[in-house]
Amino acid sequence: MSASAVVWDAALLGYDLGGEHPFNPVRLELTIRLATELGVLRDVPLLVPEPASGEELYRIHTTEYLEAVKRAPMTGAELAHGLGTEDNPVFEKMHESSALVVGSTLLAARTIAEGEARRAVNIAGGLHHAMSDHAAGFCVYNDCAVAISWLLDNGFDRVAYLDTDVHHGDGVQSAFYDDPRVLTVSLHQHPLTLWPGTGYSGEVGAGGAEGSSVNIPLPPNTRDPAWLRAFHAVVPSLLAEFQPQILVTQCGVDSHEEDPLADLSLSVDGHRAIYRTMRELADTYADGRWLAVGGGGYQLIRVVPRSWTHLIATVLNRDVPPETPLPPGWVDAIRSAAPSARLPAAMTDGADTGFRHWGDDVDGVDDPVDVAIRDTRRAIFPLHGLDPDDPRD
Ligand SMILES: [Zn+2]
Repeated sequence: MSASAVVWDAALLGYDLGGEHPFNPVRLELTIRLATELGVLRDVPLLVPEPASGEELYRIHTTEYLEAVKRAPMTGAELAHGLGTEDNPVFEKMHESSALVVGSTLLAARTIAEGEARRAVNIAGGLHHAMSDHAAGFCVYNDCAVAISWLLDNGFDRVAYLDTDVHHGDGVQSAFYDDPRVLTVSLHQHPLTLWPGTGYSGEVGAGGAEGSSVNIPLPPNTRDPAWLRAFHAVVPSLLAEFQPQILVTQCGVDSHEEDPLADLSLSVDGHRAIYRTMRELADTYADGRWLAVGGGGYQLIRVVPRSWTHLIATVLNRDVPPETPLPPGWVDAIRSAAPSARLPAAMTDGADTGFRHWGDDVDGVDDPVDVAIRDTRRAIFPLHGLDPDDPRD
């Protein structure tokens, strides 16, 4: 069992919030096209999803909410359920398209659970803000949470969820806040500076699950080396302790420096480094099982296609060297559709992703990222029997 699976169907482009909304499905189309032109998807059968059933959606969502989502295209808005707002406009076939996104992540989860693949990727998934009874942050149904809930009922007792979107993974955290079987870890821009305003290091879980919600809020302008330093200072130790049977990772790429909606300063190279780390962590701590989904990412042409092509390639063990030029077929397609777009030349931003490991130095006490690392370690590590002040932990 070494195969890796890719879930994709053009029907997923139906999750389209319309008009000038930043969550534009063209980002998915351009990613699949780039991955195809680079040969990453050569001979890879694409798994075609079915919409999730009501029964599957009820794992996380209320019946009232589902009825409101189905009704909204007729009523125009269901504001009590967050539908019809600027962030979450009502759109045609909203229920059907949203259920298909959930079905696509469920298919990825099933493929791994049934042993047909060790890893699976679904770039259309990652709608981590959706709550049990309302839409939020462009997300209608929470595919991540539904898939994790399904895994818990299908042979998995310990699921680790890593969320690297620039926004706090609040919907998934909330779904499992008191469930010790799910370790949720979110690295995001600090809640004082970005919606949804949650994700402080003090949010650690409750009701017997203290320590199972982990948050690392990072200051605006954090770059690759500091981000990677924070990730490595917290995540591997917790995984070694928690011993997950699978990693579920939300791979939003709105953490990029050029993203129009947020202020972290990562690069495509940083994203590539993150995916390689996720693969390594899955191999080390989860018997290789890795379910990767997409998420945010609003630099539709310059960032998302390159970063998620690296994600797909990493899942497939077909790593694309950073200096690889963008294929002419892809470039020509963009030039004819968006002649004024300024295109990158290669699969790299030329950024340096080298970083100092936590504990390799004793200075940096006043560095804001180091303060964030220390706060999270002190809030979480003692709950796992780890010493926050011992860099070996
Ligand atoms: Zn986001």
